[in-house]
Parts: sequence; structure tokens; C-alpha cells
Amino acid sequence: MTFDGGYNVMLEGAPSTGIAAYQKPEALYLPLFSDSLDFSLLQVEHGEAVTKGQILAKDPINYSVPLLAPMDGTVNLELAERHITLENLSSAKESADKTAEDEGQRQTLLRLGVWSSLARVDSGRVPDPDNTPECLVIPVSRLEPFFPAAETLLKDAIDQFGAGLDLFHKMLEDAKVFLICVESDSEIKTQIQSLAASRTDWLKLFEVPNTYPFDSPALAAQLNDLNPEKTWTTDLQTILAARAAIEENHPFVKRIISISGPMAETPCHHQLPIGYPLSDLGFRNGSKSLRVISGGVLTGATVAAEQLGLDCSCQALNVLEEMTEREVLAFVQPGFTKRSYSNTFASFFKPLFKEKSTTALGGEARPCVFCGFCESVCPAGIIPHLIYRYLDNDRPEDAYRVEFEKCIDCGLCSYVCVSKINHLELFRAERQRAIAESIEGE
Ligand code: SF4
Ligand code: SF4
Repeated sequence: MTFDGGYNVMLEGAPSTGIAAYQKPEALYLPLFSDSLDFSLLQVEHGEAVTKGQILAKDPINYSVPLLAPMDGTVNLELAERHITLENLSSAKESADKTAEDEGQRQTLLRLGVWSSLARVDSGRVPDPDNTPECLVIPVSRLEPFFPAAETLLKDAIDQFGAGLDLFHKMLEDAKVFLICVESDSEIKTQIQSLAASRTDWLKLFEVPNTYPFDSPALAAQLNDLNPEKTWTTDLQTILAARAAIEENHPFVKRIISISGPMAETPCHHQLPIGYPLSDLGFRNGSKSLRVISGGVLTGATVAAEQLGLDCSCQALNVLEEMTEREVLAFVQPGFTKRSYSNTFASFFKPLFKEKSTTALGGEARPCVFCGFCESVCPAGIIPHLIYRYLDNDRPEDAYRVEFEKCIDCGLCSYVCVSKINHLELFRAERQRAIAESIEGE
């Protein structure tokens, strides 16, 4: 198999692999939204006492996936807009409701907050629990800075991970499972290989170069000729959470989050309940203005100032310095501190180093200079600058003619662009438009 494009994104601020302890908060602030969910159907009242795992709200658009109480507490609906605040927190006396006798495994995963962490590869949306995919693709290695590492997530949990994979395989009616791993050897890879060795009928290890974005499930689907409409994806934590939900009736209300980036006080992992106050994570202090990105550095989204607590789909927070001054004509003053895809930068002649990531534009935005960098890194083999031009000129049919549907949303074209053109934003807007149109047509 050949792997074209890709780029080794090397940034400062990687988290240590250990899991640091955290302080019990005064209150939890559960956002009624995440990047893909909208919990608009409230299930509790102001002042109500709730127990861990109780349903607080549902998303009616996405198969009624629930927002669950991460701890026992009292509901406050008036303190923060678009949040449920839980006060008077205490450790759970009783876990979530016991499984109803006739409840299937998919319903259990829905009720205990696990199903919402599955996604269709073609649209990124939560899949219909009544449908069944042909394949489940799971990235074990994460190559975009800085998602939680497999070494952290699977430490002492490889057997539970294997049990979780078995569960999904059976529940999804013998669906095949692809685990994406980098080619280089590691202890965790050896453990994964031994899992795969005893499940050769349905579990495949897909080995990729240690270069972003070859961990992408959408790219794995393309490279292995999988039908993206019948391919789902999820992450390692969800596999572990599914096993705990089915076997122990555990609600999925805590996540291991990596907190990283040059402006994180101590880049590391934490296991935190949903709704944990962002202000208690120690990165909003100080005199510098910060930007917090939820997700990877290239594809994540800026956390809005009004969001007070961790949302239910957060896996990583990257904390960067917000650059308020523009770097005038930075592209002709490259200096020695910036890595660049271009070998015209002075830094090209330095040994490899990790770049400090900031929100700087890196220079004045300017028109495309047809340097071809975006094309050479694109792992999907399409022409980003051409597609951008078509979409920018409101000619989506021409963009699809040159295979825009192959774009896997990796953001590399924007990252390497010397003109700082934001391809990704426009590509995502077009994809959202196409998805909305197809939902309307259903
Ligand atoms: S066009 Fe799509 S797949 Fe290609 S580099 Fe840009 S975001 Fe990635
Ligand atoms: S990297 Fe930017 S400037 Fe270069 S061809 Fe692509 S869009 Fe144009």
C-alpha cells in the first residue's frame, strides 16, 4: 500500500503519559451542547436532586442520546446559560438504573452515554442504533497534536479493551474491526498485535507511517476500499466504556483528557467528569491572553468564552497563546524559530525542532501563490487550492468534479499554506451544507 502526502507536525507542549490527580470541584457546569450534539430536551427541573448516571437532558435530533449526571448533586438551571449546573456534589450512592430485562446492548450503550461517542465515517454524525455497519475503524495511534496517547488509555486495560472489541464485533452482527497503528514498534503495539492474533477472522491491524494524518479513519476507509457509508468509527475510551457499561452498568461520565500546548501549566492527562470547570484547570490564569482548542491542534475548535465546563465529547484541550499583534510580512522574515514546509525558511537548515504553537496568522493573509504545498501534503490526492477556488466562487459542482468528497478534513492544507488560506473552514462549511441538504431530502 502506498501512502501519499502527510506531514510530521512537531509542536511543543506534548502531555506526559501519566494521569494527574485533580481537585474535587465546587460544582460541575455541563454544557447542553458539544461540537455535534444539542441536548435541547431537558429531563430535570431546577432544584431537583439527581444521582450519578441519571439522564439530565436528551438530544432529540441524534437518537435521544442523553447527557448524564456525572455525580450526585442538585440541579441549578439558572446559574449559567445553556448549561446544567450541578451543586452540592457527592460521590454516588447508587449507580444508574439497572438494566431492564428486555434491554438490548445497543439500548444500554445509549442509556449509559456511550453511543454518542460513535460516529459515521462519511458524515461524522452519531449512527442510527437500528443500523449496522460493515466495519468499525478505530485509531490506536493518534498523530495530531495532542490527543490522549494509547499508552495512557490502555495502561493495565488491554484485556478490557479486547473484551470491548469482542462486544462490538458481536453487537454489530459480525462487523469487521480495523485498528490503526503506526508502523514503529512499541510495547502497546505488541499487546495490540497479540489481541489481533487471536481474532484474525474479523480484527485487522492497519499499519501506517508515523506521519499525520495517516491515523484518520476516513483515510483508512479510502485506502482499504471500505464503504464510508457503512463504516463507523470511535476511540479507545469508548471501547473500554462500552465494556464497563454492558458488564458493570457503568455510565460513561468521566473521560481521560489530555491538557497540553505551550500555555498549559503542566501538560498531562487528567481523568475528569463531564462539566469539570475549565477555570479550575489552571490555564486561564496569567497576564497572557489564551486560546483553548478542544480537539487536535489542526482540526479542533476554539472553546467559546461562555463555555464553563468540559463538554461530553471533549478528549483534548490545547492551550495556546492568543497573538493579538499581526506579523507583518512574516513570510519574507522567516527567522529561525518557525518550522515550515517551505525550504526557503531559514529554519529548514536547523536540525529538527519542535515549534512553539501560537494562534499567529504567521503573516498577512494573501492570495494563493500556487506554490503547490497544499497539494503535495494532501493525503487524499486532491488539489486543495483548486477546490478552494471553486467553493469560494460558489461552484460546488466543480469542486465535486475534482473529487472534493475524498477530503478527510485533516487541515494539513491550511497548516502548510504560505498564504494562510483557511481551506478547512470553507471545506467544512460545504460539507455541513451537503449533509443538511441530504437530511432534508430523506
Ligand atoms: S484537502 Fe482535505 S484531505 Fe487534503 S489536505 Fe486539505 S483537509 Fe486534508
Ligand atoms: S499552499 Fe496556499 S498558496 Fe500554496 S498552492 Fe496551496 S493554497 Fe495556494
